[in-house]
Amino acid sequence: MENTFEHDLPNKEGFFGEYGGSFIPPELQAVMDEITQAYLDIREDPDFRSELASLYKHYVGRPSPLFHAKRLSEVYGADIYLKREDLNHTGAHKINHCLGEALLAKKMGKKKLIAETGAGQHGVALATAAALVGMECDIYMGEVDIAKEHPNVVRMKILGANVIAATHGRKTLKEAVDAAFEAYLKDPVTQIYAIGSVVGPHPFPMMVRDFQSIIGNEAKQQFQEMTGRLPDNLVACVGGGSNAMGLFDAFLAEETVAMWGVEPAGRDLTQDGEHAATMTKGQPGVMHGFNSYMLKDDQGEPMEVYSVASGLDYPSVGPQHSYLKDIGRVNYESISDEEAISAFFELSRREGIIPAIESAHAVAYALKLAEQQKGSILVNLSGRGDKDIDFVVEHYGQQYGIEG
Ligand SMILES: *Cc1c(COP(=O)(O)O)cnc(C)c1O
Repeated sequence: MENTFEHDLPNKEGFFGEYGGSFIPPELQAVMDEITQAYLDIREDPDFRSELASLYKHYVGRPSPLFHAKRLSEVYGADIYLKREDLNHTGAHKINHCLGEALLAKKMGKKKLIAETGAGQHGVALATAAALVGMECDIYMGEVDIAKEHPNVVRMKILGANVIAATHGRKTLKEAVDAAFEAYLKDPVTQIYAIGSVVGPHPFPMMVRDFQSIIGNEAKQQFQEMTGRLPDNLVACVGGGSNAMGLFDAFLAEETVAMWGVEPAGRDLTQDGEHAATMTKGQPGVMHGFNSYMLKDDQGEPMEVYSVASGLDYPSVGPQHSYLKDIGRVNYESISDEEAISAFFELSRREGIIPAIESAHAVAYALKLAEQQKGSILVNLSGRGDKDIDFVVEHYGQQYGIEG
């Protein structure tokens, strides 16, 4: 299937209502303008579109299946369907936009893809895309995360990427973003910063959404073929918000379809630093070059955030989500660590599918929703859980009857 890229939003300056835009130094603005123009040109180009469509099919393995989870449906009372992004090459949805970004970079004549990574998922997906299109790749990663996420660090190196340690401050994701931005400012001509979600300055929230919208386009067609109807509900987890925007986009104009974005409530939603529920607890503000809901500390700086799912712990959120919240089109809810882990085992043991802990947040909310209403629920299973199994067994194994 090919994506359609035409949309009303954002406007030309990259705003979704009051959210989004571009709040960056002038030297970077020139580069962003160049990327925006290149993207607007290329997205209409039949060669680009068919090259991307071909990679989605033959390299990623798209369309990803839509699966009717019958055992879960029986137990919880609503019809639950899973969009299987976990079956993509590299095991999650991130490859959808990394391939788009890599192809664009190549057409723009860039030599090197750079990005930050937290747990290493975006880094691995981008290193994969870089290898495929034949570009260099520098991934910036906090020293603490490098020690914690050893398998992903090794994967990136095997794929030929350089993993560069961010050694200042708390040595995690925020410092990795700082280091990547610093490197980008030094050479924005031969390098391109490939942002990992629907965040950052314009055009990234638009561009990443467009690349990810293949998820909803496929799911809509698949659901209609299977049932003759549209789903009553869509559910997706929200970190930066790319897998959720990718699912929601094709359904935004369908008034009968309710949508639910699920944020991490972590250990305690009432304590600063113990969750990453940006839209539930945050307020509008600018960070990393765009305006959106964000979690701020007393100083107005990005708050320290926490979630058991490292792909969800970001103190801001994609600007289109902030807009969709304010206009009431999408509902944003939160799920705790404990609820996510419980859903992780529920899906594993009732359907034989081990989800990423990020995706388990969406599953957990879908199960709650199923207990409240009969209709149908389409859940985006954003990734597979292989990366999480050691952690889950170490911390929750006993609780779920697994000997150490
Ligand atoms: C990175 C990641 C997420 C969170 O990113 P979004 O931009 O919010 O989609 C969710 N699920 C998985 C499996 C991930 O790797």
